[in-house]
Amino acid sequence: MSTLRFDALKKTMGRKPIIIDDNEKRSALFGVNVFNEKAMRQYLTTDAFMSVQDAIVNGSKIKRVVADQIAAAMKDWAMSKSVTHYTHWFQPLTGATAEKHDAFFELLDSNQGIEKFDGGQLVQQEPDASSFPHGGIRNTFEARGYTAWDPSSPSFIYGTTLCIPTVFVSYTGEALDYKTPLLRALHAVDEAASDVAKYFDKSVRKVNASLGWEQEYFLIDEALVMARPDLTMTGRTLLGHTSAKGQQLDDHYFGSIPTRALRFMQDLEKECMLLGIPVKTRHNEVAPNQFELAPIYEEANLAVDHNSLVMDLMGKVAARHHFKVLLHEKPFKGVNGSGKHNNWSLTTDTGVNLLSPGKTPMSNLQFLTFFINTIKAIQEYEELMRSGIASASNDHRLGANEAPPAIMSVFIGDQLTKVLKELEGVTTGKLSPQEKTDLKLNVVGKIPEILLDNTDRNRTSPFAFTGNKFEFRAVGSKANCAKPMIILNTIVAKQLQDFKIEVDKLIDKKSLKKDEAIFNVLREYIKGSKRILFDGNGYDESWEKEAKKRKLSNNKTTPEALKIQIEKSTIDVFSTMKVMNKVELEARYEIEVEEYAKRIQIEGRVLGDVARNHIIPTAIKYQNLLIDNVKGLKDIYGTSFKKMALEQMDLIEQISNHIEKINAGVTQMIEERKKANALIDLGKKAAMYCDKVKPYFEEIRYHCDKLELLVDDELWPLTKYRELLFTR
Ligand code: ADP
Ligand code: MG
Repeated sequence: MSTLRFDALKKTMGRKPIIIDDNEKRSALFGVNVFNEKAMRQYLTTDAFMSVQDAIVNGSKIKRVVADQIAAAMKDWAMSKSVTHYTHWFQPLTGATAEKHDAFFELLDSNQGIEKFDGGQLVQQEPDASSFPHGGIRNTFEARGYTAWDPSSPSFIYGTTLCIPTVFVSYTGEALDYKTPLLRALHAVDEAASDVAKYFDKSVRKVNASLGWEQEYFLIDEALVMARPDLTMTGRTLLGHTSAKGQQLDDHYFGSIPTRALRFMQDLEKECMLLGIPVKTRHNEVAPNQFELAPIYEEANLAVDHNSLVMDLMGKVAARHHFKVLLHEKPFKGVNGSGKHNNWSLTTDTGVNLLSPGKTPMSNLQFLTFFINTIKAIQEYEELMRSGIASASNDHRLGANEAPPAIMSVFIGDQLTKVLKELEGVTTGKLSPQEKTDLKLNVVGKIPEILLDNTDRNRTSPFAFTGNKFEFRAVGSKANCAKPMIILNTIVAKQLQDFKIEVDKLIDKKSLKKDEAIFNVLREYIKGSKRILFDGNGYDESWEKEAKKRKLSNNKTTPEALKIQIEKSTIDVFSTMKVMNKVELEARYEIEVEEYAKRIQIEGRVLGDVARNHIIPTAIKYQNLLIDNVKGLKDIYGTSFKKMALEQMDLIEQISNHIEKINAGVTQMIEERKKANALIDLGKKAAMYCDKVKPYFEEIRYHCDKLELLVDDELWPLTKYRELLFTR
């Protein structure tokens, strides 16, 4: 009997839900462990408080003396909550978060210690950063990197450590993390959107991008996961026959949450509340043992930090409940994978959502302006958007008959399609008073009413307008949201900047009125953006053909999708908007293709190991049992044994056949890996892993899965799909 698997099953079956004390109101817990405005007011002098607020709102610099005061106040606040250490918390390009804890403790002399934390330690640190991915940046320039405090994301306490959100840059200023370009992109979209918003309201000073993410994940008992080397090493099952029952009965989605999972969620939500993460929604997802967690949306920089923090937190809380959280986009073949919808909108400091229709024709024209400019930006940079969600793990979802496809398109619904059609017919140049009135009353003025019943939702669209926001649905569950958010905000910023130039030109040169000029430019944008609009079903093969006609990209694999990141159009838009320069983009590209190759390499190694050292020996063991049986029958029945041993002999042959195929597959895969490893060019290496190594995975898996169906269940070493997906 396979001891590990059956031990795991026994353990899982014996688990009891852990009791969570969840009596306290969520609002009473909210932000208790965050150095937020409330804590700042209590611990900071008025001057220091104003200085931090100014840094948050206007990005102003904090003076060293003030930084000393803030650091001392932070330390006092943290120590009042039994904190002993602090860390600069940042998001290197590994996709995870990084922290190195230092104690507040310092020596006065050899006999006496004190707790100390000063402005210098708060503002800047030099982690020994040579082991973080840097795509050659630190080799070319300067060996060191440093972290610098980001006051716009508040510090928080986790465990007994004060965590200070920081950016991570090289000494020459190149970004080595996600936050740096994100902050630059948010700054760019703020400037460009504020300028355009001023057409409609002169008092707008700032525009914030908002992000509301929806995190999908699988929750599986830790013992069952630990019995599988593929899940522990790669986050997904590299083999495993689909279970007889999967998600075909649709009986999990929005169903009652299993008690053990619910206790985990309560525990996680409490931790989130303490950290000021406004989680609100929890429910079962489509696949068995798949769930979703979503907060109320926040300013994008904070939302990105909170998502990174939540992903980290989930693993820690899960351990208390003997669960493993699987964030991989496709842990199981044959059931739905996980995504992370990124809901995005733009809001002014006057409290107006620029992607929400308003009460007056003017505010609706403002809505249309931002709405159409966003569509135009996506149409222009569709391939870049696709590249922002590319990863080895997300490749299993995109374009693999599961929403959404690898082709970017925008869904806006019937009603808004009609509105755009009307606007497309607007007269060139000056508009007659009659036309203006008609537009205001019958087209623009009607938007809020028609949107009220804009209920048609297209679930297969990668980028959908859903009433007052766009929803980028192709983002992977494991991804750092910063990646797609950097791209989206940068291209929209660029688009709005171009729009402003065009409108101003029409006003100056053609002496058009402001609204006439806006209508004129929007009309041309609508004409030029048609190819990106698609309301149909993204799974459909006919869409692939249609998309090809429209010259939309359809990059199904990561190595293909990433190429656009170092093309001229990309370097141009990122450098014009001062988000990333050529060096930074090329470094990121190298990091990503290298990561891709490494991930496939690891999967290949694990698959080879599991197939040869777990599956084949098990199959041989079972085959020997069959051989013994046949021999026994022969001993007893002599020549007439054959009739009785027919099935057994057939099985023996089948098993040999599968073993042979597995062995051949693994051998050939290793040969291809060797060839790929010899390549120096990282892009080519990734492509080789993708095109030559990866195809063996399915081949090897096919025969392993067939063996799973043949071999005695008691001998099978790996936890099976039905056990992983249906034990709770
Ligand atoms: P679903 O997509 O599951 O139907 P909703 O559309 O109600 O759910 O909302 C999903 C997410 O969208 C939530 O996390 C919510 O906070 C976020 N959201 C709602 N309004 C906005 C907005 N204006 N900007 C950004 N995110 C938003
Ligand atoms: Mg959604």
